[in-house]
Amino acid sequence: MEKKNIDWANLGFGYIKTDYRYVSNFKEGAWDAGVITEDDKVVLSECAGVLQYAQTCFEGLKAYTTEDGKIVCFRPDLNAERMEDSAKRLEMPVFPKERFIDAVVQVVKANAAFVPPYGSGATLYIRPYMFGSNPVIGVKPADEYQFRILTTPVGPYFKGGAKPITIKVSDFDRAAPHGTGHIKAGLNYAMSLHAIVTAHEEGFAENMYLDAATRTKVEETGGANFIFVTKDNKVVTPKSSSILPSITRRSLLYVAKEYLGLEVEEREVFFDEVKDFAECGLCGTAAVVSPVGKIVDHGKEICFPAGMEKMGPTTQKLYDTLTGIQMGRIEAPEGWIKVIE
Ligand SMILES: *Cc1c(COP(=O)(O)O)cnc(C)c1O
Repeated sequence: MEKKNIDWANLGFGYIKTDYRYVSNFKEGAWDAGVITEDDKVVLSECAGVLQYAQTCFEGLKAYTTEDGKIVCFRPDLNAERMEDSAKRLEMPVFPKERFIDAVVQVVKANAAFVPPYGSGATLYIRPYMFGSNPVIGVKPADEYQFRILTTPVGPYFKGGAKPITIKVSDFDRAAPHGTGHIKAGLNYAMSLHAIVTAHEEGFAENMYLDAATRTKVEETGGANFIFVTKDNKVVTPKSSSILPSITRRSLLYVAKEYLGLEVEEREVFFDEVKDFAECGLCGTAAVVSPVGKIVDHGKEICFPAGMEKMGPTTQKLYDTLTGIQMGRIEAPEGWIKVIE
């Protein structure tokens, strides 16, 4: 198969239309068979549930080429399970896990020419999403839904090495206790836009959100979970029912314990203790781990010892091991790598 003529190493993180997408419709209580189509347009009623009441959720994962030339993706079963949780919380029908994985395989195969080559640092980003599609004006769940998967090639997250970022403690809240912070719902992002635009205007790369109830505990950023490393080399991640359960974070914790022999703790993390950690990183599909060099809390700075030029040593080991597993250079735990072709 001939690859598309794309400058993989200089791609950014923007939408580039690929040749194919997957579409399945839910009507009269059932999903149809689903198709791969070239049609990138969605035509909806002006009163569609998604447009009026934001009934939509999504997922994000990547396909890429391993060292031995296979096209694979990473733990799509966990994306399917998480989307099931999101759908249930939003009163949407579940797109079955086996069908979700099959749809990912189909759409990546169809777009194999857009899967970047090994070593380019680029990947094919996969975006499954679902929305209420029939007219809804009284507040209630839609009766009809569309599940789609689009793909778009994205560049290496870090061009020229991962430089630590500076983040701020936000004055806005991301998620309420007993709210929707734990699901991947579009609504969580709509209301985070003002906070991130404000942070960027002030010169920060990201927001650190605290728990909305007490504003004393670390939650996450707008789109990535935190991991911290203690001075005695324990890996710590915040535990809260309003954090989105990152697949990258869960994988990193496993790697820390089973591959690197480190102690790991998932527990409440008070903002007061953050100054005592040795390392801090953000984890998510896009970057795997972004090192945090500095956290600013209303003018007070917390600077991590590794500084602003490179990742901390344990963060680096975690990053190297997980990306090694993903790229096929290190043996993966059973079931982590889904071979597409
Ligand atoms: C998607 C997402 C993450 C990262 O999850 P991964 O599965 O690792 O990509 C973290 N936080 C939020 C709020 C997210 O939406």
